[in-house]
Amino acid sequence: MSGNPIPLSSPDIGEDDIRAVTDVLKSGRLSLGPQLQAFEAAMAAYTGAKYAVAVSSGTSALHLCIRALGIGEGDEVITTPFSFIASANCMLFEKAVPRFVDIEPATFCIDPAKIEQAITKKTKAILAVDVFGYLADWETLGSIAKKHGIALIEDSCESLGSARGGRMAGTFGDCGTFAFYPNKQMTTGEGGMIVTNREDIAVSARRERNQGRDPENAWLEHKSLGFNYRLSDIQCALGISQLKRMPEFIHKRRQIAEWYKEELEPLNEHIRPAPVQNGVDISWFVYVAHLTARHGQKARDALLAHLRAHGIGCNNYFPPLHLQPLYRTQGHGEGDFPVTEKIAERTVALPFSSRLSRAEVASVCRIVKDGILRL
Ligand SMILES: *Cc1c(COP(=O)(O)O)cnc(C)c1O
Repeated sequence: MSGNPIPLSSPDIGEDDIRAVTDVLKSGRLSLGPQLQAFEAAMAAYTGAKYAVAVSSGTSALHLCIRALGIGEGDEVITTPFSFIASANCMLFEKAVPRFVDIEPATFCIDPAKIEQAITKKTKAILAVDVFGYLADWETLGSIAKKHGIALIEDSCESLGSARGGRMAGTFGDCGTFAFYPNKQMTTGEGGMIVTNREDIAVSARRERNQGRDPENAWLEHKSLGFNYRLSDIQCALGISQLKRMPEFIHKRRQIAEWYKEELEPLNEHIRPAPVQNGVDISWFVYVAHLTARHGQKARDALLAHLRAHGIGCNNYFPPLHLQPLYRTQGHGEGDFPVTEKIAERTVALPFSSRLSRAEVASVCRIVKDGILRL
C-alpha cells in the first residue's frame, strides 16, 4: 500500500453542522418539531417545488410516492435496470411489477425511445433515475407520460443540485425523491425527501410516514395504513445546515471532477473520464470512469482489485438490477438489456467527495495507471 487509504466517499461535516445537531439535542424537541418544518421549507425553496416531505430514507420516499399514486398489485411501472436496487424494489413493496427498459449510452439514464413499446394497459407510471447526477430526458419522458395518462416519478436520489435550464432535479415529474445517506451530495446520516407540486401526493406522504395519521387526527387515531418513516429533528437540523452548504459542495465536486478529467485524459486509450452532459449543470454524485472497448469485465474487476489492494476505495456502479438474484427469480437474465450490460461491465467508480484534495486525485490516478499497465 502506498500512502494513506482514500475512501470511495466521505461525508463533509463541519463545526456548524455539529452545532446544529447539539442545539437540537439541548432543545428537547427531537421529533416532529420545528426543525422538520424548517428543513422541509428549505428544501422546497432550494428545489422550487411547492411541497417537500421529509422521510427516513430515499427508499421510503420512493415507497410513499408509489403508494400516493395508488400503484398496487399487478400494476406495471416502467423503469431502468441501471440503478440502485431501491428504485425497482419500491414497486415490489406494493406487489407492482417493474418493467425494465434499457438505457441511453450517453447519459446512462432510461432511453425514452424504448418506452412506448413497453407500455401496456397495466402501466401506471414511469419511474426514471438521474444516474450519478446526470439528468434523464425528463422533457421527453413527460410528454410520453402525458400522452398515455400515466404518472412520472423522478428518482433524484443521486442528483440533488443538478439542473437543466434553471430547473432543479426532482421537479420534472409528478414527484421527485432525494436521499441523504452519507455518500450523497449532502447527508443527514440516513434520510430522504419527497418534493412535489401536487397537494394530494404531499398529503398522502405526510399521513403515511406517520402511521396513517392526518394532521387533524389525534395521536392515536389512524385514518389509513401507514409506516414509521419519520425523520427526526436531529437529522433535520443537520439537513438544514448541510443544505446551506450545497453551493460549496457542488463547487468543490465540479472542481474535483475537472481534476480527474485532467489526470485521466492521458490514459484515454484504456479508460475514459466520466462524461460531461451537455446542457446540464451537474452536482456530481459519484465519479464513474469507463474502461474502453478494448477491456471487458475481467479487466475491470482486476483494476478494482488493484485499487483496493492499494487502499483506494472504488466500486462497480451499478451491477444491472435485472441480473441481481432477486430479479433473476422474476425471469430476467443475461442479454435482456444489452446497453446496460455493456456499460455496467466497464464502470469504475473512483473516490469522490467534497473533501478530496488535488494530491489525492493525482495519487488515485497514479494507481489507476499502474493498474492499467498490468491488465
Ligand atoms: C441512494 C439511492 C436511493 C435511496 O437510498 P437510501 O439508502 O434508501 O436513502 C434510491 N435510489 C437511488 C438511485 C439511489 O442512489
